[in-house]
Amino acid sequence: MFCKNCGKEIDNNAYVCPNCGVKVKDELAERRERQAATDLEADSGSKAGWGILSFLIPIVGLILFLMWKTERPKTASVCGKCALAAVIVEVIAVIIYVIIAVAVIGALT
Ligand SMILES: [Zn+2]
Repeated sequence: MFCKNCGKEIDNNAYVCPNCGVKVKDELAERRERQAATDLEADSGSKAGWGILSFLIPIVGLILFLMWKTERPKTASVCGKCALAAVIVEVIAVIIYVIIAVAVIGALT
């Protein structure tokens, strides 16, 4: 790219023009930051959705976790945690159910 101030060709990754010392990347960096913030917001919204789905159907959460482990590690971790939480809740529910069943059978016999 070229410096806005002096017009000299400079490195695309440069923040400051080595020729005149003027900042060249402010606008671009700002725009990129804003875009990243928007992406993050959108991502956190979808993360919550995937988390709920993973909680409701833990096997889906597990599949999403394995699928996104490298590509979308944050969403994958949310899916994994929600799936794990769902499994724990279900195991506790089964234990409670068994205890109640045993108590009822015990009371009947
Ligand atoms: Zn310059």
